Amino acid sequence: MSESARQHDEKGSISGETASDRGDQSERTASDAGGGLSRRSMLKVGALAAATLAATQGRGQPGAPAVAAGSVAGRPFRAFVRHGTTSSIEDLRLREIRPRQVLVRTTASCGCYTITRSVLGQGAVPNPQIPNHSGMGVVEAVGAEVRRVRVGDRVLVCGTPECGQCYQCLHGNPEACNYLNSQLFIEPIADMADGTGVVQQSAIGGLSEIIVAMEEYCIPLFTDLPDEQLAMLGDTLAAGLASTMTYAPVEGGSNVVIFGAGPIGLAAVQGARSRSAGQIIVIEPVAYRREKAIELGATTVLDPNVDTDTLVERIRAMCNGPTDRFDAGGRFGPGYRYGGADFVVEGSGGDLFPPAVETGPDPSGLLALRQAWDVTRGGGHLTLLAAGQRGEISFPTAQFCLSTRSIHGGQMGGMHPMRDAPRYVTMIERGSVDPAAIITATYPLDGVVEGFRKVAERTELGVVFTFS
Ligand SMILES: [Zn+2]
Ligand SMILES: [Zn+2]
Repeated sequence: MSESARQHDEKGSISGETASDRGDQSERTASDAGGGLSRRSMLKVGALAAATLAATQGRGQPGAPAVAAGSVAGRPFRAFVRHGTTSSIEDLRLREIRPRQVLVRTTASCGCYTITRSVLGQGAVPNPQIPNHSGMGVVEAVGAEVRRVRVGDRVLVCGTPECGQCYQCLHGNPEACNYLNSQLFIEPIADMADGTGVVQQSAIGGLSEIIVAMEEYCIPLFTDLPDEQLAMLGDTLAAGLASTMTYAPVEGGSNVVIFGAGPIGLAAVQGARSRSAGQIIVIEPVAYRREKAIELGATTVLDPNVDTDTLVERIRAMCNGPTDRFDAGGRFGPGYRYGGADFVVEGSGGDLFPPAVETGPDPSGLLALRQAWDVTRGGGHLTLLAAGQRGEISFPTAQFCLSTRSIHGGQMGGMHPMRDAPRYVTMIERGSVDPAAIITATYPLDGVVEGFRKVAERTELGVVFTFS
């Protein structure tokens, strides 16, 4: 090991110069490094080894970060903090980051319906907390053991981690990565003026000028797309896209049914359209959301408040195809209990707050869950990803056991973040997915309460908080 490399290794980091600086040094030393073994030459060889390593890093190979963290402790920043029974914008002081943490300067953060209680809730919180669970930003410092991202990278701090090494990741289920058990990693990242420690919800937060994230939650994105659009890939937009592409990839010409036309459901509409679905049938009680669904590619929109009792039969009938001659590829008629859609996404959820727009037939969200299962054909796929449902649900035993419907869980629709986020970026760049069509409002940090109130009331679709 060269002297310089050893020095780096002992420090566990490389500081100061950049990979490209060292790459230039490689070119200067390569021509005269092959001489004798004098101390001077050995130092040159050592420099060559370090430079070669650096040049390798420059080509994207594994290696140490380009720039490691100096001390970041004491850095001031502003954040929305829930504390006690209230909330406020607080001036905070950053604590030191840990070796596997990444310091991200937040540029945008996606408003999520499940976070409305964290922002607007009335109850007391045990510890001061920065709400939300995703964000977009720029890496400003990395701990000495971080490899995935480098200082200066644009980075998505995703609501789902992907470590690539735990049992779940190695068995093909990174949406359930062990690092998702974020309670393990929640500790104060900053202090309020009185010295009280502040934690981040789900070990991410997001409604803050700074995010301190474990490396496993950080997805570097190499694109020029706007921050507010990319922020949607940490939460709602990605969840909807994943629901049509990961565990139940929509097939061309197939029938797709989507419950809910909020940001997630509308992303699912775009995902189904991008995969050339046949019918895209959307069930949504809110009129302006039904109109948006049509705009984005739905072929039929239905109000679940109209003839609620016959909704399942009507959807099954729409999916019945051009013939009931089942010796010619057809199916039984609409009354067939295993009839229905090939792919179904449940993205409506329950009401955490009273909506200020049209309400659905069941605020608990359980009716939509059951209807979603009922309209999935035998052998079809149902992806569940909504939140806010309350209570328990039951199914008829024989159908539940024998209908061969496949049910997929929905931590972000089954998104595999490191693999999928770059794919979604490409789809946006190609124009097959349009986040801007879903983003209807942006707010600064001072507008967090107002923005989340709109989310809770369902009067806006995609709400993004931006940071200058
Ligand atoms: Zn969320
Ligand atoms: Zn993992």
